[in-house]
Amino acid sequence: MKNKAKAIIRWKDLTTEQYIFLAKKVHGNIYDYSQVKYNGLSKKIKIICPTHGESLQFPKKHINTSGCKKCGREKSDNPTKVELKTKKEKKLAKKAAELFYEQFYSSDSVCEELNIGSNNSYKYGYLKGLLKKYDLYRDNSDRRGMNTRRYNVNEKFFDNIDTEEKAYILGFIYADGNIDQPPNNKLNINLQEKDIHILEDIRRIMEFDGIIGIYDTKKTHIMGKKLKSVQRTARMCISHNGIYNGLLK
Ligand SMILES: [Zn+2]
Repeated sequence: MKNKAKAIIRWKDLTTEQYIFLAKKVHGNIYDYSQVKYNGLSKKIKIICPTHGESLQFPKKHINTSGCKKCGREKSDNPTKVELKTKKEKKLAKKAAELFYEQFYSSDSVCEELNIGSNNSYKYGYLKGLLKKYDLYRDNSDRRGMNTRRYNVNEKFFDNIDTEEKAYILGFIYADGNIDQPPNNKLNINLQEKDIHILEDIRRIMEFDGIIGIYDTKKTHIMGKKLKSVQRTARMCISHNGIYNGLLK
């Protein structure tokens, strides 16, 4: 019977031939070891990869890893085409979910923005399928719920028009806003998407923490064909009695 202690590899005592024998046990005949001079664990050896050529490696590392460093890197960095496609699609789905649920883009606008589903006339269905595939789908009431959630606003904002900013915003509302009658008591301001920064300013000044939604005002596609100009509207709605009453003063 073999002595167990002797079966344990004593790295430092290996000869070059023994080392090469071991390396071949692990990697087969892939690498050329003709330049190897084994001289303990701390001295690098020269191995020759048929693909990447010569490289210096620590002896133990060569055996414990996938051999040539570059071969190892290729193995871990080269996902299959299917994996790549899935990764890309998942990223897209995440972005779509963000636009749809967090930024309130319409399904048409999401597809337009991300250039997806262009041959699908039923964009919501396409989007839903994509989100479901990656477990990102939420019930649409979630979206509506967020749309109408309780938000904060400086409710006395229009009670006294005592700053230039307030006067400016008031003028702006008379020009580009509209006010829904009770029971909605809703202030809407619609602007072209490119002017969204104005809404963001107003939002900040009024200490409003609701959202600014992006909506299509014109069709993005006809019969699956992408239209050149799409118009989108940025819309801010504040439904609040205090604001409503202040505006009617
Ligand atoms: Zn290699």
